[in-house]
Amino acid sequence: MLSYRHAFHAGNHADVLKHYVLGLVLAYTTQKEKPYWYIDTHAGAGMYSLQEGYATQNAEFEEGIGKLIAAKNLPKPLADYVAQIQSFNSGTLALYPGSPSIAELYLRADDRMRLFELHPNDYKILDENFQSFGKQVKVEMQNGFAGIKACLPPPPRRAVVLIDPPYEDKQDYMHVVDMIKDSLKRFPTGTYIVWYPILQREEPDEMLDSLTALNVPDWLHVSMSIHAPSAEGFGMHGSGLFIINPPWT
Ligand code: SAM
Repeated sequence: MLSYRHAFHAGNHADVLKHYVLGLVLAYTTQKEKPYWYIDTHAGAGMYSLQEGYATQNAEFEEGIGKLIAAKNLPKPLADYVAQIQSFNSGTLALYPGSPSIAELYLRADDRMRLFELHPNDYKILDENFQSFGKQVKVEMQNGFAGIKACLPPPPRRAVVLIDPPYEDKQDYMHVVDMIKDSLKRFPTGTYIVWYPILQREEPDEMLDSLTALNVPDWLHVSMSIHAPSAEGFGMHGSGLFIINPPWT
């Protein structure tokens, strides 16, 4: 199902949590000189306009990155993330970077990026955004759940993998668990970051239970709720990240 367009949600509270934590994981990963691969199974377009098109329809970014940019006295790691977002803008907030563009900030000469995006329009924009990187960044219009198999284990035996499906198709929750099980067999020491929405339905909790039941030695669960669940019983009131093999800190 390809009705989902991430541009509607660019820079919202869920993007903020995801990209802030992704940046922290990559900052720790790059403390070692040894190269690594960044793999994004659901990469999106890589960059989004906040001043025209889909993002302006509900202006979700106003409750996300908009609030952080306006905030004073942020703790240093959050201030660093805000500075990263500002580095894509000159003054006014016009652009919001997607996960591949956040990852690009940490990319060193020997590191590689492998990006999967199934929507033809977003794939085209993503591919154009990363043309100048040549072979260092490979962009594929392919199902990321399947495409990741060919990337594991990565030649440098180090990788950070972001798994960020739309979950509009409820099967995505099951696909994530199956993909993680298969990936851990191929490459047990990779860092896997699974994003999920907090909803008033059972699938996200069932997925978390299945991930916890894998009994991997190291995992970290980060979540942020931004308001109480709605009385109507639907809508996303927060989001979370389940990180397998987070970098040592
Ligand atoms: N990771 C991006 C970021 O943080 O900026 C956002 C990704 S968005 C939540 C999910 C993306 O996955 C959409 O752009 C959608 O078109 C794409 N997509 C949906 N199913 C896919 C699949 N099976 N394989 C690869 N991409 C897929």
